Amino acid sequence: MPAYPLRSGDDILLPSCAACGRWRWPGGEICRDCGGVTIGPARWTGPATVLAEVRVHRGVPAANLEHGPYEVVAIDLGGLRFLTRWGERPDPVRRGQRCTLRWGRVGDTDWPLAYPQDA
Ligand SMILES: [Zn+2]
Repeated sequence: MPAYPLRSGDDILLPSCAACGRWRWPGGEICRDCGGVTIGPARWTGPATVLAEVRVHRGVPAANLEHGPYEVVAIDLGGLRFLTRWGERPDPVRRGQRCTLRWGRVGDTDWPLAYPQDA
């Protein structure tokens, strides 16, 4: 099983069931919704909405606190809940707010970061 999310250029590839089309995180071999056995990478195109945000002050390895404290945002990617950080944090942050994901750097790792999206 590949380590998701996968990157293809600027595209974000997430595990999806070929039989029912639902997102499957963290992937796996069998879809828990339809029993399909073809879970593979699919291009995520949106939409995304903010579910919640928390500010992390401590308990994180020093190597990950380069800009700490920092916010972790939970977003819904169309049936898939995803945790990430902001690439550009809106102020204020509202539950249900539309956002999108774009690749960015967290420490020395590429990771999809959240960006606000105008309604
Ligand atoms: Zn399925």
